[in-house]
Amino acid sequence: MSEQKPYRILLYYKYVRIENYEEFAAEHLRFCKELGLKGRILVAEEGINGTVSGTVEQTDAYMEAMRKDPRFADTFFKIDESDEHAFKKMFVRPKKELVTFRVEHELDPNVITGKYLSPKEFYEALQDEDVIVLDGRNYYEYDIGHFRNAIRPPVDSFREFPEWIRENLSEYKDKKIITYCTGGIRCEKLTGFMIKEGFTDVAQLHGGIVTYGKDPEVQGRLFDGKCYVFDERISVPINRTEEDIVIGKCHHCGKTEDRYVNCANPECNLQIILCPECEVEHKRSCSPACESHERNRYVKELHVLNS
Ligand SMILES: [Zn+2]
Ligand SMILES: [Zn+2]
Repeated sequence: MSEQKPYRILLYYKYVRIENYEEFAAEHLRFCKELGLKGRILVAEEGINGTVSGTVEQTDAYMEAMRKDPRFADTFFKIDESDEHAFKKMFVRPKKELVTFRVEHELDPNVITGKYLSPKEFYEALQDEDVIVLDGRNYYEYDIGHFRNAIRPPVDSFREFPEWIRENLSEYKDKKIITYCTGGIRCEKLTGFMIKEGFTDVAQLHGGIVTYGKDPEVQGRLFDGKCYVFDERISVPINRTEEDIVIGKCHHCGKTEDRYVNCANPECNLQIILCPECEVEHKRSCSPACESHERNRYVKELHVLNS
């Protein structure tokens, strides 16, 4: 038995009506800071979506407080152990929508959403040749890890999905389609949208990839590479079998690699997969222009190290 690590990272969401959500966000920020949590929480009239880190005691106190609030009583928390915080600061941002998905339909997952599949059901569906597997995330998340044979929509923001689906999947409205995302929140809307568009058999991975990776039975099988996460870890392992492989490719040389870095040009900041050799050779930059940018952070760091 390995010892419990001192910190935890919580990932959770709940679609539920929050009156005066801007006020709620301000109060919630005070509360989280009092507890000593760090992380990023979005609050909207349609609900809450957060990922926070803290000690075991702090995260326990947070979950307990949330469960006492009838609105959030049945929120499902995905818990990862950690040696340290996964964020530097605590933010609670009020937003119009939890996930921005600009369509003309009103999309309330409490009213309409795709069927929920448990990790085991999803694993079985993955092996059915007649099923279309749709990745509900952005291309840069797909590129370091995804379910085998999943479709990679070339989108870099969730709001591009409706148009892409209308243009590319309309002829498959009677096919069985399964979708997945990191923690499940995006699929709630994505599948609801597809049902409203006339797709007849749409299901989603309940709890997302993160939950799938923790399932004792499937153990992350058929997930290749790592799962992109929106905290300082950048990615986490999912497949706990001997099939765990690296699938990312270095932005410059194409070598197999799964570390994401931000381009060292502070005005570019593009997230790229980069191998250690190319990091040195290309000054951790995505392009020649960024390499020679006067404020290149890699050059600055080197300068500090050598002085
Ligand atoms: Zn390389
Ligand atoms: Zn760049």
